[in-house]
Amino acid sequence: MIWAGAIAGVAAAAWAVRGRSSQVFAPSVWHGDRSGRQVALTFDDGPSERTPELLELLERFGAKATFFVCGQNAERLPGVLEAVARAGHEIGNHTWSHPWMDFTSKAAMRDEIGRTQKIVETLTGKAPRLFRAPYGVRWIGLGEVQREYGLMGVMWTSIGLDWKLPADKIAGRLLRGTRSGDILCLHDGRTLAANPDITPTVAATGEVLQTLRARDFTFCAVSAMLER
Ligand SMILES: [Zn+2]
Repeated sequence: MIWAGAIAGVAAAAWAVRGRSSQVFAPSVWHGDRSGRQVALTFDDGPSERTPELLELLERFGAKATFFVCGQNAERLPGVLEAVARAGHEIGNHTWSHPWMDFTSKAAMRDEIGRTQKIVETLTGKAPRLFRAPYGVRWIGLGEVQREYGLMGVMWTSIGLDWKLPADKIAGRLLRGTRSGDILCLHDGRTLAANPDITPTVAATGEVLQTLRARDFTFCAVSAMLER
């Protein structure tokens, strides 16, 4: 019984930290308005050298998306970040250096998030309004830091696991039972790696765009979806 209780306690704590609907440490959303026919594509860990391929693909489908960027990648590739913003996509905050934030102090979280707010605002003229926690990990004090910067947390409805699966498997995960209001998570970078291979991501994104358009979906940024 003691073990059963301990295991249940560990499971509850894990859900609090990483569960997509958990609000324990900070407010967050994992889907938007279910009426209408819209989905929100999101890309994390950019900008990367390969991000322009996704911009081209999104433009071909008239799709707007949300890019949750790491400040350190933006510092390395400022021109790519500017191109993402210029194309009309939304920029969200994904911390400066993509740390695991469990057992992290509030001061460290404030530094990670604040530096990223600043570089995005400097490069694009607009500070992010959305935050996605690396690995989906939220922690004590994050809610307060989000409030300080006016950030809403964004988890996801479905995640492609595109850093490890082939394109057909990624697309299959995201296209299974897709509903209006879904927030789909992909990656245009691989944490802080330079020149990451995102070939499966690009291929899967093309398939998702094509299939969902054929099902009459349109593609909007997360903020636009939340405003509905
Ligand atoms: Zn990430």
